[in-house]
Amino acid sequence: MPVRPALVPLETAGDAAQALQGLSLQDVVVSVWFKGKKRAGVAGEMLFTHFGVSGPAVLSLSGQAVDALLAGHRVTLAIDLFPDLDEDELDHQLLRSIDTHGRQQLSTLLKDLLPHRMIPLCASATGIPARRVGHQLTAQERARLRAWLKDVRFEITGHRSFKEAIITAGGVNTREVDPNTMQSRRTEGLYFAGEVLDVDADTGGYNLQAAFSTGWLAGRSAGAL
Ligand SMILES: Cc1cc2nc3c(=O)[nH]c(=O)nc-3n(C[C@H](O)[C@H](O)[C@H](O)COP(=O)(O)OP(=O)(O)OC[C@H]3O[C@@H](n4cnc5c(N)ncnc54)[C@H](O)[C@@H]3O)c2cc1C
Repeated sequence: MPVRPALVPLETAGDAAQALQGLSLQDVVVSVWFKGKKRAGVAGEMLFTHFGVSGPAVLSLSGQAVDALLAGHRVTLAIDLFPDLDEDELDHQLLRSIDTHGRQQLSTLLKDLLPHRMIPLCASATGIPARRVGHQLTAQERARLRAWLKDVRFEITGHRSFKEAIITAGGVNTREVDPNTMQSRRTEGLYFAGEVLDVDADTGGYNLQAAFSTGWLAGRSAGAL
Protein backbone atom coordinates (compact mmCIF):
# COMPACT_ATOMS: atom_id res chain seq x y z
CA MET A 1 0.00 0.00 0.00
CA PRO A 2 1.19 3.56 -0.66
CA VAL A 3 2.73 5.36 2.27
CA ARG A 4 0.42 7.97 3.81
CA PRO A 5 -0.07 9.71 7.16
CA ALA A 6 -2.50 8.18 9.68
CA LEU A 7 -3.67 9.20 13.14
CA VAL A 8 -3.45 12.67 11.64
CA PRO A 9 -5.45 15.90 12.09
CA LEU A 10 -7.92 16.76 9.31
CA GLU A 11 -8.52 19.99 7.40
CA THR A 12 -12.05 21.29 6.85
CA ALA A 13 -13.71 23.52 4.24
CA GLY A 14 -14.61 27.13 4.96
CA ASP A 15 -13.99 28.85 8.25
CA ALA A 16 -16.65 27.22 10.47
CA ALA A 17 -14.19 24.95 12.32
CA GLN A 18 -11.52 27.66 12.41
CA ALA A 19 -13.99 30.00 14.14
CA LEU A 20 -14.15 27.43 16.96
CA GLN A 21 -10.36 27.11 17.26
CA GLY A 22 -9.29 25.92 20.71
CA LEU A 23 -12.72 24.53 21.61
CA SER A 24 -12.69 20.90 22.67
CA LEU A 25 -15.80 18.72 22.81
CA GLN A 26 -15.97 15.87 25.32
CA ASP A 27 -18.10 12.72 25.13
CA VAL A 28 -19.22 13.21 21.54
CA VAL A 29 -19.38 10.63 18.77
CA VAL A 30 -17.50 11.62 15.63
CA SER A 31 -18.06 9.78 12.38
CA VAL A 32 -16.73 9.96 8.88
CA TRP A 33 -19.04 9.72 5.86
CA PHE A 34 -18.28 9.12 2.21
CA LYS A 35 -20.16 7.62 -0.72
CA GLY A 36 -23.34 8.38 1.24
CA LYS A 37 -22.49 5.99 4.07
CA LYS A 38 -21.22 6.26 7.60
CA ARG A 39 -17.82 4.53 7.62
CA ALA A 40 -16.54 4.97 11.12
CA GLY A 41 -17.82 6.29 14.41
CA VAL A 42 -15.60 6.98 17.39
CA ALA A 43 -16.68 8.16 20.84
CA GLY A 44 -14.53 10.51 22.85
CA GLU A 45 -12.96 13.93 22.69
CA MET A 46 -12.25 16.17 19.70
CA LEU A 47 -10.71 19.58 19.19
CA PHE A 48 -11.18 22.45 16.73
CA THR A 49 -7.99 23.98 15.37
CA HIS A 50 -6.87 26.79 13.06
CA PHE A 51 -7.02 24.37 10.10
CA GLY A 52 -9.92 22.06 11.04
CA VAL A 53 -10.27 19.24 13.54
CA SER A 54 -8.04 17.10 15.73
CA GLY A 55 -8.15 15.33 19.09
CA PRO A 56 -8.31 11.63 19.96
CA ALA A 57 -11.66 10.78 18.30
CA VAL A 58 -10.72 12.55 15.05
CA LEU A 59 -7.24 10.98 14.96
CA SER A 60 -8.74 7.53 15.43
CA LEU A 61 -10.93 7.79 12.34
CA SER A 62 -8.54 9.91 10.27
CA GLY A 63 -7.05 6.91 8.45
CA GLN A 64 -10.39 6.17 6.78
CA ALA A 65 -10.83 9.84 5.87
CA VAL A 66 -7.33 10.04 4.35
CA ASP A 67 -7.90 6.89 2.29
CA ALA A 68 -11.29 8.17 1.08
CA LEU A 69 -9.79 11.53 0.10
CA LEU A 70 -6.97 9.77 -1.77
CA ALA A 71 -9.61 7.71 -3.61
CA GLY A 72 -11.23 10.99 -4.70
CA HIS A 73 -14.37 10.77 -2.53
CA ARG A 74 -16.13 13.70 -0.93
CA VAL A 75 -15.68 13.19 2.80
CA THR A 76 -17.68 14.70 5.64
CA LEU A 77 -17.24 14.56 9.37
CA ALA A 78 -20.37 14.33 11.51
CA ILE A 79 -20.46 15.12 15.22
CA ASP A 80 -23.21 13.80 17.48
CA LEU A 81 -23.20 16.21 20.42
CA PHE A 82 -25.70 14.04 22.34
CA PRO A 83 -24.78 10.42 21.62
CA ASP A 84 -26.49 9.18 24.78
CA LEU A 85 -29.88 10.67 23.84
CA ASP A 86 -32.12 9.51 21.02
CA GLU A 87 -34.21 12.09 19.15
CA ASP A 88 -37.20 11.73 21.54
CA GLU A 89 -35.05 12.13 24.64
CA LEU A 90 -33.31 15.12 23.12
CA ASP A 91 -36.69 16.65 22.26
CA HIS A 92 -37.76 16.24 25.90
CA GLN A 93 -34.58 17.99 26.98
CA LEU A 94 -35.25 20.83 24.52
CA LEU A 95 -38.84 21.16 25.74
CA ARG A 96 -37.63 21.26 29.35
CA SER A 97 -35.20 24.07 28.46
CA ILE A 98 -37.98 25.93 26.63
CA ASP A 99 -40.29 25.49 29.66
CA THR A 100 -37.65 26.89 31.98
CA HIS A 101 -36.18 29.61 29.75
CA GLY A 102 -39.02 30.10 27.25
CA ARG A 103 -38.83 33.87 27.38
CA GLN A 104 -35.16 33.92 26.63
CA GLN A 105 -33.58 34.10 23.21
CA LEU A 106 -32.37 30.93 21.54
CA SER A 107 -28.77 31.99 22.13
CA THR A 108 -29.36 32.02 25.91
CA LEU A 109 -31.52 28.92 25.92
CA LEU A 110 -28.88 26.92 24.08
CA LYS A 111 -26.22 27.72 26.67
CA ASP A 112 -27.45 24.72 28.66
CA LEU A 113 -27.03 22.44 25.67
CA LEU A 114 -23.89 23.41 23.80
CA PRO A 115 -20.75 25.52 24.11
CA HIS A 116 -21.52 29.21 23.72
CA ARG A 117 -19.08 29.51 20.79
CA MET A 118 -21.11 27.01 18.76
CA ILE A 119 -24.32 29.06 18.93
CA PRO A 120 -23.63 31.19 15.79
CA LEU A 121 -22.87 28.00 13.83
CA CYS A 122 -26.08 26.42 15.14
CA ALA A 123 -28.12 29.48 14.17
CA SER A 124 -26.72 29.59 10.63
CA ALA A 125 -26.93 25.82 10.07
CA THR A 126 -30.52 25.53 11.31
CA GLY A 127 -31.69 28.86 9.90
CA ILE A 128 -33.16 29.76 13.31
CA PRO A 129 -32.24 33.32 14.28
CA ALA A 130 -30.22 33.36 17.52
CA ARG A 131 -32.58 36.11 18.76
CA ARG A 132 -35.70 33.94 18.40
CA VAL A 133 -37.43 33.62 21.79
CA GLY A 134 -37.63 30.03 23.10
CA HIS A 135 -41.41 29.61 23.24
CA GLN A 136 -41.74 31.01 19.69
CA LEU A 137 -39.82 28.07 18.27
CA THR A 138 -42.02 26.09 15.90
CA ALA A 139 -42.14 22.29 15.92
CA GLN A 140 -40.24 22.27 12.61
CA GLU A 141 -37.55 24.55 14.02
CA ARG A 142 -37.23 22.32 17.07
CA ALA A 143 -36.90 19.32 14.76
CA ARG A 144 -34.14 21.09 12.76
CA LEU A 145 -32.38 21.99 15.98
CA ARG A 146 -32.60 18.41 17.25
CA ALA A 147 -31.32 17.02 13.97
CA TRP A 148 -28.38 19.47 13.95
CA LEU A 149 -27.39 18.75 17.57
CA LYS A 150 -27.02 15.08 16.62
CA ASP A 151 -25.38 15.67 13.24
CA VAL A 152 -23.06 18.69 13.03
CA ARG A 153 -21.32 18.43 9.66
CA PHE A 154 -17.95 19.61 8.41
CA GLU A 155 -16.56 18.88 4.96
CA ILE A 156 -13.10 17.35 5.09
CA THR A 157 -10.86 18.79 2.40
CA GLY A 158 -7.48 17.39 3.38
CA HIS A 159 -5.18 16.15 6.09
CA ARG A 160 -2.07 17.44 7.80
CA SER A 161 1.34 16.21 6.67
CA PHE A 162 3.55 13.38 7.95
CA LYS A 163 5.16 15.92 10.28
CA GLU A 164 1.93 16.15 12.27
CA ALA A 165 0.88 12.51 11.89
CA ILE A 166 1.37 10.10 14.77
CA ILE A 167 1.99 7.15 12.50
CA THR A 168 2.58 6.19 8.88
CA ALA A 169 0.19 3.84 7.12
CA GLY A 170 1.34 1.72 4.18
CA GLY A 171 4.87 0.50 3.56
CA VAL A 172 6.55 -2.86 2.98
CA ASN A 173 3.95 -5.55 2.28
CA THR A 174 3.97 -8.01 5.20
CA ARG A 175 3.50 -10.89 2.72
CA GLU A 176 7.00 -10.13 1.50
CA VAL A 177 8.44 -10.55 5.00
CA ASP A 178 9.04 -13.80 6.92
CA PRO A 179 7.16 -13.26 10.23
CA ASN A 180 9.48 -15.71 12.05
CA THR A 181 12.56 -13.58 11.38
CA MET A 182 11.36 -10.27 9.80
CA GLN A 183 13.73 -11.05 6.91
CA SER A 184 12.68 -9.97 3.43
CA ARG A 185 11.44 -12.84 1.29
CA ARG A 186 12.89 -10.98 -1.69
CA THR A 187 16.34 -9.95 -0.49
CA GLU A 188 18.39 -12.16 1.79
CA GLY A 189 20.00 -10.37 4.72
CA LEU A 190 17.50 -7.47 4.62
CA TYR A 191 15.30 -7.12 7.74
CA PHE A 192 12.34 -4.86 8.42
CA ALA A 193 10.88 -3.50 11.66
CA GLY A 194 8.45 -0.86 12.85
CA GLU A 195 6.73 1.74 10.76
CA VAL A 196 8.50 0.82 7.52
CA LEU A 197 6.16 -2.20 7.45
CA ASP A 198 2.59 -1.96 6.18
CA VAL A 199 1.29 -2.32 9.73
CA ASP A 200 -0.63 0.40 11.48
CA ALA A 201 -2.92 0.37 14.45
CA ASP A 202 -5.18 2.59 16.51
CA THR A 203 -3.86 4.65 19.40
CA GLY A 204 -3.29 2.85 22.68
CA GLY A 205 0.31 1.63 22.47
CA TYR A 206 -0.25 -0.86 19.65
CA ASN A 207 2.11 0.95 17.26
CA LEU A 208 4.93 1.09 19.80
CA GLN A 209 4.31 -2.56 20.61
CA ALA A 210 4.52 -3.44 16.90
CA ALA A 211 7.79 -1.48 16.59
CA PHE A 212 9.28 -3.08 19.74
CA SER A 213 8.25 -6.62 18.81
CA THR A 214 9.30 -6.49 15.17
CA GLY A 215 12.51 -4.62 16.11
CA TRP A 216 13.41 -7.21 18.74
CA LEU A 217 12.75 -10.09 16.32
CA ALA A 218 14.55 -8.47 13.36
CA GLY A 219 17.58 -7.63 15.53
CA ARG A 220 17.78 -11.09 17.06
CA SER A 221 17.42 -12.78 13.67
CA ALA A 222 19.99 -10.55 11.96
CA GLY A 223 22.42 -11.03 14.87
CA ALA A 224 22.09 -14.80 14.67
CA LEU A 225 23.45 -14.86 11.10
C1 LIG B 1 3.71 12.55 18.93
C2 LIG B 1 3.63 11.04 18.81
C3 LIG B 1 2.99 10.32 19.80
C4 LIG B 1 2.89 8.93 19.67
N1 LIG B 1 2.23 8.24 20.64
C5 LIG B 1 2.13 6.91 20.55
C6 LIG B 1 1.49 6.16 21.57
O1 LIG B 1 1.01 6.71 22.56
N2 LIG B 1 1.40 4.82 21.41
C7 LIG B 1 1.90 4.19 20.32
O2 LIG B 1 1.80 2.95 20.22
N3 LIG B 1 2.52 4.86 19.35
C8 LIG B 1 2.67 6.20 19.43
N4 LIG B 1 3.30 6.89 18.46
C9 LIG B 1 3.82 6.14 17.30
C10 LIG B 1 5.14 5.46 17.65
O3 LIG B 1 6.01 6.41 18.22
C11 LIG B 1 5.74 4.86 16.37
O4 LIG B 1 4.81 3.94 15.80
C12 LIG B 1 7.03 4.14 16.65
O5 LIG B 1 7.95 4.99 17.31
C13 LIG B 1 7.64 3.63 15.36
O6 LIG B 1 8.90 3.10 15.63
P1 LIG B 1 9.96 2.96 14.50
O7 LIG B 1 11.19 2.41 15.16
O8 LIG B 1 9.41 2.21 13.34
O9 LIG B 1 10.23 4.43 13.93
P2 LIG B 1 10.81 5.67 14.70
O10 LIG B 1 10.46 5.64 16.15
O11 LIG B 1 10.41 6.86 13.88
O12 LIG B 1 12.37 5.47 14.59
C14 LIG B 1 13.06 5.66 13.38
C15 LIG B 1 14.44 6.15 13.72
O13 LIG B 1 15.24 6.15 12.54
C16 LIG B 1 15.98 7.33 12.50
N5 LIG B 1 16.32 7.60 11.10
C17 LIG B 1 15.51 8.03 10.12
N6 LIG B 1 16.19 8.11 8.97
C18 LIG B 1 17.44 7.70 9.21
C19 LIG B 1 18.60 7.54 8.42
N7 LIG B 1 18.58 7.80 7.11
N8 LIG B 1 19.71 7.09 9.02
C20 LIG B 1 19.73 6.79 10.33
N9 LIG B 1 18.66 6.90 11.13
C21 LIG B 1 17.53 7.36 10.57
C22 LIG B 1 15.08 8.38 13.09
O14 LIG B 1 15.81 9.49 13.56
C23 LIG B 1 14.44 7.59 14.24
O15 LIG B 1 15.19 7.65 15.41
C24 LIG B 1 3.46 8.27 18.55
C25 LIG B 1 4.10 9.01 17.57
C26 LIG B 1 4.19 10.39 17.69
C27 LIG B 1 4.89 11.17 16.61
